[in-house]
Amino acid sequence: MAKSAAEPVLADANSRRRLIGLLGGTFDPIHYGHLRLAETLADKLGLDEVRFIPAASPPHRQLPETAAQHRCEMVRLAIENNPRFVLDDRELKREGASYTIDTLLALRRELGAEVALCLIMGSDAFAALDGWHRWQELLDHCHMALVERPNVALASTLDAPLQALLRERYAEDCKWLAASPAGRISIQRMTALDISATGIRNDLMNGCSPRYLLPDNVISYIERHRLYTKPLK
Ligand code: ATP
Repeated sequence: MAKSAAEPVLADANSRRRLIGLLGGTFDPIHYGHLRLAETLADKLGLDEVRFIPAASPPHRQLPETAAQHRCEMVRLAIENNPRFVLDDRELKREGASYTIDTLLALRRELGAEVALCLIMGSDAFAALDGWHRWQELLDHCHMALVERPNVALASTLDAPLQALLRERYAEDCKWLAASPAGRISIQRMTALDISATGIRNDLMNGCSPRYLLPDNVISYIERHRLYTKPLK
């Protein structure tokens, strides 16, 4: 990774800043790729909690066909036994498009200026970041932690403005994230899991079992509510 911005002064261990991970997504449905991503980054970055934030109406992609309340309920079931994981359904309660900048501003109003927020993203999501509403302002309110998804290499596929952002904000040491409330980008590794919600929806549509790709209680919920049975448009 190219040279990064200056090393911050780290707070001493006794005055450790709270660090909250934010994992947004359509979760249509939630799967082990999402759960491992959250668990891995919680461990590696020392996150106090990870908030799962289902999008009601993601502006940068097709509207999910599955009702928001089903996607939200599946997240609730998937994370129910993990004390570090929290469901945050604020985007479902808001009218209109689910802009991440609005979510960050609302979280700042609630949690104050000092807590460190860290937006967790796979490489596919980061590669599309420059299409997000007010994307240049996001790092004023949060850090970002990126993980390479199988088949989506990070640096090589990025547009020039995102490459520049990464160079400028890259945090060589993930401890730097706790040194400030926002502004840095960390890149982390996880055991690659080539699982996608699209693949799971396709499996279900074709009558194939999605077992071992997502939690059993989520599969039971899908069966009970007969989700993903119509052919994809
Ligand atoms: P779809 O196939 O419908 O596009 P998805 O599986 O990519 O869905 P999303 O809800 O769009 O799931 O993803 C939310 C976030 O989780 C994104 O930042 C995405 O990069 C990340 N993510 C999803 N699946 C994985 C995975 N298998 N490994 C690492 N990150 C993942």
